[in-house]
Amino acid sequence: MRLHCQTCGTVIPPGGVFYIGRTEIISGSDGILPDSEESGDKIIDKALKEITKVKSEQEFMDEVYQEIKLVLCGQCRLVFRDKILDLVKY
Ligand SMILES: [Zn+2]
Repeated sequence: MRLHCQTCGTVIPPGGVFYIGRTEIISGSDGILPDSEESGDKIIDKALKEITKVKSEQEFMDEVYQEIKLVLCGQCRLVFRDKILDLVKY
């Protein structure tokens, strides 16, 4: 199986230099639970309904943890890095 850059399609020659662009998106928490008038049971019930209604199990899991992994050539490594860094505005 030949390795190729997943961004531009360039074939990585055997023994050639390539990079793995890996991004993890992990659900964060500040440890504070939002105040609510609703009882715990009601909240759980509502959450379960939403999960089963709109989201597949995979979609739900992706909201908690998602890893994106790309094989990159040297040129696209810079593109990948710059695109991610470009997201930082504040
Ligand atoms: Zn490339």
